[in-house]
Amino acid sequence: MRKMPVAAPTITSLFTHRDYLRLFTAQVSALFGTGLTTVALGLLAYELAGADAAAVLGTALTIKMMVYVTVAPIVAAYAHRFPRRLFLVGLNTIRAGVVLALPFIDQIWQIYVLIAVLQTASAAFTPTYQAVIPDILPDERDYTRALSAAQLAATMETLLSPMLAAAALSVISFHWLFVGTAVGFAISAVLVITTRIPDVGAITEGTFRDRIAVGMRIFAATPRLRGLLGLNLVVAAAGSVIMVNTVNYVRDTLGGTQSGVAMLLAANGFGTLIIALSLPRVIDRLGARPVMVAGAATLVVGLGSAVALSIADAGEWRWGAAVAVWAVVGAGTAAVLTPTGQVLRRSSQPADRPALFAAQFSLSHLAWLITYPIAGWLTTAAGFTTTWVTLAVIAGAGITVALRTWPRHDPAELTHLHEVGTIDPARLADAVRVAERLYQHTHEFVIDAEHRRWPTRAAGQPAMVG
Ligand SMILES: [Zn+2]
Repeated sequence: MRKMPVAAPTITSLFTHRDYLRLFTAQVSALFGTGLTTVALGLLAYELAGADAAAVLGTALTIKMMVYVTVAPIVAAYAHRFPRRLFLVGLNTIRAGVVLALPFIDQIWQIYVLIAVLQTASAAFTPTYQAVIPDILPDERDYTRALSAAQLAATMETLLSPMLAAAALSVISFHWLFVGTAVGFAISAVLVITTRIPDVGAITEGTFRDRIAVGMRIFAATPRLRGLLGLNLVVAAAGSVIMVNTVNYVRDTLGGTQSGVAMLLAANGFGTLIIALSLPRVIDRLGARPVMVAGAATLVVGLGSAVALSIADAGEWRWGAAVAVWAVVGAGTAAVLTPTGQVLRRSSQPADRPALFAAQFSLSHLAWLITYPIAGWLTTAAGFTTTWVTLAVIAGAGITVALRTWPRHDPAELTHLHEVGTIDPARLADAVRVAERLYQHTHEFVIDAEHRRWPTRAAGQPAMVG
């Protein structure tokens, strides 16, 4: 019986690997570059579109998600045909170039074109980077740790970039943020150049599309992952308010400046940081589900408070309330996202983990693809209250799906039946024969080739698997 580690593996041991450390630092620099662009882009959109900035940001971020969902799988399928180091360096150079062009923009359509190019490069970078990792980290456990590290880096980026931006904006104008971003991509490119990357993957693990199919099958058949699907939607609904509506809310409703925008984004990041740092011990004690459900409930409460704030009378007190709401949304986001890697690891055989992480990548982006346009276009057409009520309803639906599909009692080991001939006899060594062709056994249960459906308990009897 294969034992799967449930506790989060230590990530630090990975960083003794020189090439991995360089590549990881390259990825983090690029991530921070992207994060700073996000803040600066919001301010640029406001400079060009004023009250319609939400629609511009909603459109730009929708373009980003469409590119991610369509370009990433295609590039992943063909990336092995290019000299990969050159490809990664080229993508970073394109990104740096686009970002340096952004301050010179004076038309809204130019934002869309540059964002499409920038995000195409980013969408091509991520799967290529992910495909390189197993070649420089042949050990599967190291690889799984690297997947977790990548997810942790993405989470840290969303919370630390706005803080960095807030600090920078207190001394410089937002146009200079784009320079900081370009520097991030340049550092990333230099680090990639100095990394040894084998050109052709030693491991053939099928195309990205095959992996997505495997990942989607595991998602559909695993109750806790169906719950995660609902939680993805809650995170996207609340996160869209932060990403798309902060600029207009601060400048038009609160009458604040660009450092006010950065301050609210920093409050959001601060909420995420506090929870992300204090959470690991709580997750060990309580398990992922209560933490993630509490996080999602916090996000629904945060959205409800935002609605209340949007119909409240004017007054200075709204600043304090807004800071609190933005921080609460950050905290809820961290509570949902931090345990996600552990839930994915728990739900798959080591060999299927890349497929499952890839599926989560696509499915979470699909959730943002629903909520970004709502936050952008509905705000411009109908105002904050209608938009935030709509997003709160979507978040409510998401948490309902999570509560209904992810059972509270969710043990690792499940008792189930196998029919002879549907499973390798070696795996039935410890099984008990209960009928003519039926064997029963108990082990840590995940969906794989021989366990294609989740065992459902009918009248106390363990269910068939096949
Ligand atoms: Zn079994």
